[in-house]
Amino acid sequence: MNELEHDYLEIVSQVRAHLEYKKALGIDFVEVAPVARVQKQAAISTVSETRTGVSTAPAVTASAPSASSGGLAAVRDELGECTRCKLNSGRNTIVFGEGNANAALVFVGEGPGQEEDQQGRPFVGAAGQLLTDIIVKGMKLGREDVYICNIVKCRPPNNRKPESDEVKACEPFLIKQLQAIRPKVIVGLGNVAVQTLLKTKEGITSLRGRWHQYEDIPLMPTFHPAYLLRTPGDKRLVWDDIKKVLAELEKRRG
Ligand code: SF4
Repeated sequence: MNELEHDYLEIVSQVRAHLEYKKALGIDFVEVAPVARVQKQAAISTVSETRTGVSTAPAVTASAPSASSGGLAAVRDELGECTRCKLNSGRNTIVFGEGNANAALVFVGEGPGQEEDQQGRPFVGAAGQLLTDIIVKGMKLGREDVYICNIVKCRPPNNRKPESDEVKACEPFLIKQLQAIRPKVIVGLGNVAVQTLLKTKEGITSLRGRWHQYEDIPLMPTFHPAYLLRTPGDKRLVWDDIKKVLAELEKRRG
């Protein structure tokens, strides 16, 4: 293989990775600007930079459909291959979040588990299946209609709770995600998510089921799906909370 062919294959590989990343952010189209020659040159430059270790920026820019998706991509870019806290040492993958960049509803959980760490996607293990059921079977929505993320983006060892220094290091990126999406409603899943968002030490049992405010966004605390796997009898309480969320979304639709 000559150098030109090698560069071509590398560009294709980078474009594919970049598009998959955009798709994970909820951006499902690519705007083709009339500057292909410039983009191609930029892509070739990026390949060169990647080889030298100067930059790992994506080869081709996929224009964002809105300020929010562009904002999310910028937040992901800023996060980079983050080493801001000690959780970086045990992770396989950063689990940034996924879904609709313009979602009216955002679910915020605690942190990735083993399956999420492997796949790089939030809520894909057993608890994730339960959350998916709540969204799809209960709310009659798709996962792609909402946005799902966590307080910390890297898996804590042995699925322990994230420690305060880890939450502190990672929280600015959650704040920026929420600022980019500007959802109409947030659902906080479990103690860590709700206590972080609301800056309270009050427990989920007393917080859940009634509205709180995150900035100017209504926030409904409810039990984490992992808790429901251990305590299925409380599913009906979560469903009560979710019905309130559906009613609020309906009210804000008009
Ligand atoms: S948990 Fe957050 S702050 Fe810590 S290394 Fe991962 S991305 Fe960075």
